[in-house]
Amino acid sequence: MNPDLLVDNSRPTVAAPALRTKAELRAALEPARRQGLRIGLVPTMGYLHEGHLSLIVAARDECDLVVMSLFVNPTQFGPGEDLDRYPRDEERDLRLAAGAGADLVFAPPAEEVYAPDSSTAVEVTGSLISVLDGDAARRGPEHFRGVTTVVAKLFNLVGPDVAYFGQKDAQQAVVIRRMVRDLDFPVRVEVLPTVREPDGLAMSSRNAYLEPSDRERATALSRALAAAEREARAGSLADGLEAARAARAAAAIAPEYLEARDAETLDPVERFADRPVLVLVAARVGAARLIDNVLIHPDKSDT
Ligand code: AMP
Repeated sequence: MNPDLLVDNSRPTVAAPALRTKAELRAALEPARRQGLRIGLVPTMGYLHEGHLSLIVAARDECDLVVMSLFVNPTQFGPGEDLDRYPRDEERDLRLAAGAGADLVFAPPAEEVYAPDSSTAVEVTGSLISVLDGDAARRGPEHFRGVTTVVAKLFNLVGPDVAYFGQKDAQQAVVIRRMVRDLDFPVRVEVLPTVREPDGLAMSSRNAYLEPSDRERATALSRALAAAEREARAGSLADGLEAARAARAAAAIAPEYLEARDAETLDPVERFADRPVLVLVAARVGAARLIDNVLIHPDKSDT
C-alpha cells in the first residue's frame, strides 16, 4: 500500500480496501504508526447505516487514518440469537465506508480472530454486565464478555488513538469505557449520539428484520423515550417512566425492560440528583429485538 494514501483526506467513491488478516492489518498500519499519525477506529458488525457512518465521519474529522472493523463477532451472540441470519452486505459496506471517509476496513474471517483453542477473555465484572441486556434472562453477561474481548483485541491490533462508539448501545459504551479505564488502554473513547430515522426509530442493522407493520409499531420505542424525557424534565422521573409505559402499551409492545439508570454506574435511579440518567428500553417487535435509550442531563432536568 502507498503510505501517502493514508493521509489522503479526500473522500474516495470506490470501495475501501478490505484487509482479511492481522498481518495485512499490521503491515497497512505500519507506515502510519511510523509517521506518528493519529489513528481512529470504528468497530462495527457491518450492514452499515447512517449511525455507523456518523462515527466514520467523526473519526475522519479528528484522525489522520480511519480504520473501520467489519466483523460479526460470534462470541457476543448467545446460542439462540441471530448470528447466522445477521444481515450482511460487504460490498455495499466497503463503498459506504470509503464514502464516509474510512481509509481501510479490517474484515477478517472468524478463524483469523479466534484461534481454535482461544482460552482468554476480557470481562468487566459486576453489575455493569449483569443488568439490562446482561441479565441472564436476556442476552446475559456473556454478551458483554464477547464485546469486551473483541474490542480489546481490536484495540491491540489497531492501536487506535481514538475509538468511536454509538450512544445507541448505551450499556455497551458504559462497559467499554470501564474496560478502558480499568485496563489502562491508551485509547480515547468517543460516544456519539444516536442517529434516527425521520420518524424517530433508532437506526439499526436489525431494523432489516422488521415487516412493514412491525416497522410502524417500532416507532413506539422512540416515542416512549421522548415522552419519558419530556415528562421527566417537566415533572418527575416516575411520571416520565409512566408516560413511556403508556406510549409503548398503546402500540401493544411488551418491553423486556424500560428502566431509568445512572448513566455511569447503571444503578437504578428513582429520581434525578446531580448525575446524568439513562432511560433504556428493549423490546421484541416482530422478528427483531430492538434497543433504544435517551440520556437526560441533570442540568436540564427538573431538580
Ligand atoms: P453494530 O454494527 O451494530 O455493532 O454497531 C457498530 C457501532 O455503531 C456501535 O458503536 C454502535 O453503538 C454504533 N451505532 C449503531 N447504531 C447507531 C445509531 N443509530 N446511531 C449511532 N451509532 C450507532
